[in-house]
Amino acid sequence: MIIAVDGPAASGKGTIAKALARHYGLPHLDTGLLYRAVALTVQRMELDPAKEADAVAACDFDDALLADPALRTDEIGQLASIVSAHPLVRAALLHRQKRFARQPGGAVLDGRDIGTVIAPDADAKLFVKATPQIRAQRRHKELQGHGSTVSFDKVLTDIRGRDARDSGRSTAPLVMAGDAVLLDTSFLSIDASVQKAIALVEVRRVRAVSATEPQ
Ligand code: C5P
Repeated sequence: MIIAVDGPAASGKGTIAKALARHYGLPHLDTGLLYRAVALTVQRMELDPAKEADAVAACDFDDALLADPALRTDEIGQLASIVSAHPLVRAALLHRQKRFARQPGGAVLDGRDIGTVIAPDADAKLFVKATPQIRAQRRHKELQGHGSTVSFDKVLTDIRGRDARDSGRSTAPLVMAGDAVLLDTSFLSIDASVQKAIALVEVRRVRAVSATEPQ
C-alpha cells in the first residue's frame, strides 16, 4: 500500500506520516529532507539558491547528509523552498522518490507533491492542513524549546512566505490532489490527528481490498 501525505509546513504531516508508517509497518520517506539537503549543500558550497544551475549542482549530495541536524533549521526550510521551485531540481530528485514509493509492499511518503506527482496512483492520499496562525504557534513553541528567541511574528511571516512560494510555483505546486482526503489538524491534538489519519486510510484500504475481491 502506498500512502501519500501532503500539506504545508508545520501542518503535522510529518508526525502523521511517521505514525502511519509505524501503524502499517511500512518504510517512510520525508521528502522535504531531500530539498533541505540540496539547500544545505548550496549554502555550504556558497552557491546561489535562486540560480537553477547552482541548485542543480547541489543535487548530487551524499546520503549521509540526510541525517545532519543542520537540515532541520528554519533558515534551511526557507532555502529549500527556493531551490525546490526549480524544475530541474525537482527532476533530479524525482526518480529516487518514485523508486521509494514503488518498493515491494509499499511505503509512506510525505511532502508537497506526493499525491499529485510522485505517487498519483497512491492507495490513500491525505492532505493535512492547519491555519497559518496555529502552524506558526506550533513552530514557535518548538523553536523556543530549542532555546531560540525568535518572535512569533517572524515565524508567522516565514510560514506565510514559504506557503506562498510552495503554492505559487509553476512546477509541482502545493495543491490538494483531486482524490485526496482533507485532514484539518488546527484543533486536534497529535494523538487525535493520528487516530483520524488512520481511520481515513482504513476507509481507503478497505475499499481497495473489497474492490479486488470476487463478487
Ligand atoms: O516539509 P519540509 O518543511 O521539510 O520541506 C521543506 C521545503 O521543501 C518545502 O517548503 C518545499 O518548498 C520543499 N518540498 C517540496 N516538495 C516536497 C517536499 C518538500 O517542494 N515533496
